[in-house]
This record gives sequence, structure tokens and C-alpha cells, in this order.
Amino acid sequence: MLMRRVGVLALQGDFAEHIAVLHRLEVEAVPVRLPSELNGVGGLIIPGGESTTIGKLMREYQLTEALNGLIAEGIPLLGTCAGMVMLASRISGMDQQSLGAMDIEVKRNAFGRQVDSFESDLDIPVLGQPPFHAVFIRAPVIESVGDGVEILARLADGSPVAARQNNLVATAFHPEIPHDLRFHKYFLSFVDRKLEAKAA
Ligand code: GLN
Repeated sequence: MLMRRVGVLALQGDFAEHIAVLHRLEVEAVPVRLPSELNGVGGLIIPGGESTTIGKLMREYQLTEALNGLIAEGIPLLGTCAGMVMLASRISGMDQQSLGAMDIEVKRNAFGRQVDSFESDLDIPVLGQPPFHAVFIRAPVIESVGDGVEILARLADGSPVAARQNNLVATAFHPEIPHDLRFHKYFLSFVDRKLEAKAA
């Protein structure tokens, strides 16, 4: 079994919850605030929080280039909620800097004030049954995706809320909140595959 070491961007937001999930899965979790802390990580999670703040701190801490380097190497990244906004190449109706790594267009705070937060049991075929209890908190939605993007989950109205492009995975919801480890396990399968390919 290869040693799995996964970074969690710890600038702002709910990084502690992702670290707790990784620990429950017996994965070494590294909180990342400096570019040097990315050394040797086999994957990286960008948590939910406030994407404007995360983006600003990313630039201040000189992490943008380092993260683009990871993406160019094909290291798997999981972006949840604000993390999904950070991965998107287009953010509709907003001039916001993101990493621009995934060919998806997202809309921030897509569900308005009345339904700020909600929960929904989603059918996520890559996770199998039962449905995944997804928690949305001032969540973004995916408005359009490019050709190379697989939509992993949709709300009942058809809106895409999780997607994958090669080793990049994004969710509008917070998979670290329910006591269901399946989404993180799914992400770790890409980390494992990448580590195995490197070791081969
Ligand atoms: N509304 C936040 C943003 O767009 C995301 C909310 C979250 O990550 N829970 O930055």
C-alpha cells in the first residue's frame, strides 16, 4: 500500500472538517498555507469557505503558481463549494480570479437568500447506492461544462452540482459534513491511481 499524503488548503473555511475525514480514512493530512507545504502531497483539497477571501490569500501567500504547478503535473484536486469556484475557468456574472483549471462555468451563491442552505439526497452513480446526503451552504451551481467534463450529480431540477475533469473533482455541496466517507474515498481513488502510475 502506498503512503497517501493529502494537502488541505488551510487559508480560510472548513479545512478542519476535511482533515478530520482524511484522518478517519487513515490518510496523512497536511494543512497547507505555504507553497513549501505542498511538497510530496499526492492530492489536494480546496475546502468551502469564502472564495473571494481564499483567492486573495492564495495570491498573498504565493500559492497560485504552486497550485497551478500541481494541476499541470496531474495531481488530483478536490474543490468543494468555494473550492469549486476556485477551480472553475468561468465564474458567471463576476470578475473573480480563480485557478481556471476546470472547464466549467459556475455561478456563486446560486440559490439566493431565501434558500441560503438546504440538504438533498443525491443519486451519485460513481458512489452507488444509497443516495448521498448532500449539504449545500450558500452554494454555487454549475451552469455549463466543456466536452471533457463528466457530470457526477444533479439536483432534482437537473442542475449539475458535482463534476470531474481528469483528476480534478468539484462539488457544490459539502461532502465533509455528513458521516459518509464515500465522496472522499472516490477522490482518493484518483490519488491512488496517480501514485501507482508514478511508482510504476
Ligand atoms: N458562497 C461562498 C462563495 O462563493 C461559498 C460558500 C461555501 O463554500 N460554503 O465563496
